[in-house]
Amino acid sequence: MPFSKLGLSDPILKAVADLGYTAPTSIQKQAIPAILSGRDLIAVAQTGTGKTASFVLPILEALNIERKLRGKRIRALILVPTRELAIQVEANVAEYSKYLSLSSMVMYGGVDSEAQKQRLLEGVDILVATPGRLLDMVYQRALHFDELEVLVLDEADRMLDMGFIDDINKIIHRLPGQRQSLLFSATMTDDVRYLADTVNDDAVEISVSPGSATTPKIDQWLVTVDKDRKSALLSHLINELQWDQALIFIEKRHAAAKLVSQLEKRGIKAEAIHGGRSQASRERVLAEFKSGELRFLVATGIAARGIDIDNLTRVVNYDLPYESDDYIHRIGRTGRAGASGEAISFVAKDNFKNLCAIESRLGHIIARKEFEGFDVKKVVPVSILNYVPKNRR
Ligand code: AMP
Repeated sequence: MPFSKLGLSDPILKAVADLGYTAPTSIQKQAIPAILSGRDLIAVAQTGTGKTASFVLPILEALNIERKLRGKRIRALILVPTRELAIQVEANVAEYSKYLSLSSMVMYGGVDSEAQKQRLLEGVDILVATPGRLLDMVYQRALHFDELEVLVLDEADRMLDMGFIDDINKIIHRLPGQRQSLLFSATMTDDVRYLADTVNDDAVEISVSPGSATTPKIDQWLVTVDKDRKSALLSHLINELQWDQALIFIEKRHAAAKLVSQLEKRGIKAEAIHGGRSQASRERVLAEFKSGELRFLVATGIAARGIDIDNLTRVVNYDLPYESDDYIHRIGRTGRAGASGEAISFVAKDNFKNLCAIESRLGHIIARKEFEGFDVKKVVPVSILNYVPKNRR
């Protein structure tokens, strides 16, 4: 099915064509007509499925009617969990709306708020924001919701994980009852369902499984490794397999800095991003990584959320995530929208239970590779595929 059959007008179709999108993804085929018809929506979709365009395009279509914007007012609000995702989503809004005369703005904390306040004075059509700073602005009466038409909660599960529920409730409480609400989440937990029921009214529900997404081809494999050999193994793989680029996930901030210096000692230049670095330095490092100037980026899970890099060929779980959803989400950073990618996990004996949970969730065992000189002292057994973590029983 071509984009032109979805009910979007020419300026939007042209912007999409400029980006080289030839056909809508599965979520776009389902979500765009539903949103255009004015219905509320609950969508279970992960990063990499084309979910951002699935809500941004119909919102642009709906807002594209001549209207005088009042000061300090917005017409669409897209709430996201992190600064990085906010920046990414707003960049998409700007691209998709380049042939329209709609305004957009990104707003997040950790930076001076004065410029954001100034920008709001003239009103904005589409605001992409993180919850905390948005509430600040509301409290300071720099922003009013009385003309809001559409609310989007993007990556709702992650916003709840990050503890934003109170902020979200305070925001929702202030919105006009007469509005369209769209909720996107990578997973549908009880908490997300509860939130969805609070914001939505008679919503259309759709779900795209990773399999039916943009068919990312992700080659997943793992290496079992003793904990104290991980950095040596990483250097070995980078050199032996001649990796061009990798996004490397690590659990703790201080370990990220340590790994960067261990790699550098072996002649591999890397940088780290984590919550402890300033916004400016995170943005600089990300830009370098995106441009290819920086080849190896070590990131803690939260800092990495929202990183959207086209053609990211490889992610490495230096530390295996505790949650299998996080594993799925991380590997979704590669092999986006049809491209092929590779996801490699380092698994130590201590990670055995996590591995069982992840492989059970995937429904298959991840291929193991062995490298000379990296035999393990502590063997990781083969997983039990019907493993259920204790707290879920
Ligand atoms: P998302 O799931 O929104 O994070 O999007 C993942 C990636 O897919 C982004 O880099 C988009 O630019 C890209 N994308 C979105 N829709 C399409 C499409 N219909 N065809 C090709 N690429 C797309």
